[in-house]
Formats: sequence, structure tokens, C-alpha cells
Amino acid sequence: NDYKIPVNTIVSYNEKQNRRLKRVASLKEKLAKALKNDEISIMIQPRLNVTTGKISGGELLMRWNNSTVGPVSPVEFIPISEKDDQIFYLTHYLMKESLKLGDIFAPEAGNDRPFSISVNISPSIIHAEKLHDLIQYTEKAGPDFTYEFELTEGVFLGVDERVADELKLLQSRGIAASVDDFGTGYSNLEYLQDLNINVLKIDKKFIDGIPGRGKQQHLVRAVIQMAHALNLLTVAEGVETPEQFLWLQKEGIDEIQGFVFSKPIELVALQDFYDHHNKNRWAFLEK
Ligand code: C2E
Ligand code: MG
Ligand code: MG
Ligand code: MG
Repeated sequence: NDYKIPVNTIVSYNEKQNRRLKRVASLKEKLAKALKNDEISIMIQPRLNVTTGKISGGELLMRWNNSTVGPVSPVEFIPISEKDDQIFYLTHYLMKESLKLGDIFAPEAGNDRPFSISVNISPSIIHAEKLHDLIQYTEKAGPDFTYEFELTEGVFLGVDERVADELKLLQSRGIAASVDDFGTGYSNLEYLQDLNINVLKIDKKFIDGIPGRGKQQHLVRAVIQMAHALNLLTVAEGVETPEQFLWLQKEGIDEIQGFVFSKPIELVALQDFYDHHNKNRWAFLEK
């Protein structure tokens, strides 16, 4: 009975682990210079009001393109930036860039105005109490724009006083608070009743299975109903097909964000996208 230790497996696992650590270290070093080297850019993904067919706002999403490494996904570089102060500098830059929308985009009065700009706020920003630094930018935005700050469920793990205070600060400045990637964290639901939250963004994971998979349909339907009972606006993330859209519309979702309507686009492309959309609001369903 010759039992052999799978040596190769162990070696290759260590090598993989090693390569990973090296990449993270190298990215961390390059990320520290990314802003100075002009490697960071900001995209916007428009959001649609399902009832009116009008554009309600858009989410700002960060992009990093390094000359030697190439494009790096935010899924990879945001967690690295959260390990130190980098995420503060990056989010400052994003807020500063968001003010450019005032020059390059003008939503029509009585139409889709004000336009809501969504910003992803890392938990570390809340925990380091750096939110007030970012709020100053929202005061410089003109009357055409409002802001929504997206927080992931992790922020609400064990609701503490600080988080409640930060949320009150947002409300007092007219900034909406949303729960991003709802349903993927591990928090209990207590925060939904105790804290000032305005918007629930249902994660793509749940949207992927509809229509069709019974359990996911029940879940999404129940989440929409619960959110509405709590006076929260509901947004479905990652809607890719007309079938998903129509099902969500039937179930009373308020807004959608996803490739079925638009991928993230350059800030300078927003006006054209907006004008084109307003010529035929439901054209995207006919593709
Ligand atoms: P998120 O906040 O949940 O953003 C939505 C992500 O889903 C974006 O990916 C978007 O491009 C993608 N998406 C939207 N609709 C669809 C769809 O229909 N199909 C598919 N397959 N994907 C869709 P992205 O831009 O790669 O960002 C990934 C994550 O990185 C974000 O998830 C967010 O957690 C983080 N992130 C991006 N920018 C920032 C930022 O400025 N600050 C912070 N803290 N995090 C950011
Ligand atoms: Mg988000
Ligand atoms: Mg999200
Ligand atoms: Mg998500």
C-alpha cells in the first residue's frame, strides 16, 4: 500500500500563492503612483427609471490602466487600495472628476433632473471617519445633480453609533444612502429598520437566475416587496436581457442598471447617450 504525498500539487499551490503575492506587491507599488501618472479614469453607467423610461442617474466606476501591467479590474485594485490610504486619494479624485459633469452634461429641466450620481464608498472610508472630506465636493455640484453614496452590507455588520452618525450626516446634506450588492453580505437585517437608508441595490447574483429559476424569483420578489414596505427605492444590478427587464418591471422594481440598457461609458459620452435615449425610450428592449 504505497500512499504518496502529492508533492506536485503542493509545489504548484505554493507557486501560485507566491505569484499572487508578488503581483499584489507590484500592483500596490504601481497604484501609489497611478494618480500622479494619470492612469486612473472614471466611467459612468446610466441607471433607468423603469416606470417612466427616463434616465435617473448613473454610477461612477473607477478604471486603472497601467503602462506595463495593462488594464487592472477594480475588483482587483480596489481591495489593494483599501489596505492603506490609497482608497481615500482615489475616491477624492473620483469626486473631483464628477464635478466635470456640470460642464459636459445638462439633464433637461422637468425631464430627468436632477440627475443622481452614485459613488461607491469603501467601508474603510466610513470606519476612518473620512466621509466629511468627500461631502465637500457634493456642495460644489450644481442644482442639476444630487449624489447617492453606495455602501456594501459589510459596513452595517454590528450597527455601531459611528455608522449611524455618518448616515445622518449624509441625510442632512441631501445625499442618499444605498446598500450595494444587497444579499451578498453577512449582516443581519436590523440596520434596515434602524438606519437612514434610501435605496436597495439587489446584487447581480440574484438577477442572473431570473426569470426561470423558481427560488431566485421568489427571493427577488420578496426583497422588492420588503424594500417597498420599508419605503426604500429598489434597483436591480446587472440586468442583461429584455426578459429579465420585463420580469423585474412586472414585479414592480423601480430602477435598473445593466448591460441591457447600457455598459459603463466615458463621462464625455453621457450627453450623446442621453439625447439618443430620449428619442426612443424603450428602443433598447427591441435589440
Ligand atoms: P459594483 O459597485 O457592484 O458595480 C457594478 C459592477 O457591475 C461594475 O463592474 C459594472 O460594470 C458591472 N455591471 C453592471 N451591469 C452589468 C451587467 O449587466 N453585466 C455584467 N456582467 N456586469 C455588469 P466594475 O466597474 O468592474 O466594478 C466592480 C466593482 O468594483 C464595483 O461593484 C465596486 O464594488 C468596485 N468599484 C468600482 N469603482 C469603485 C470606486 O470608485 N470605489 C470603490 N470603493 N469601489 C469601486
Ligand atoms: Mg456600486
Ligand atoms: Mg453594486
Ligand atoms: Mg455588485
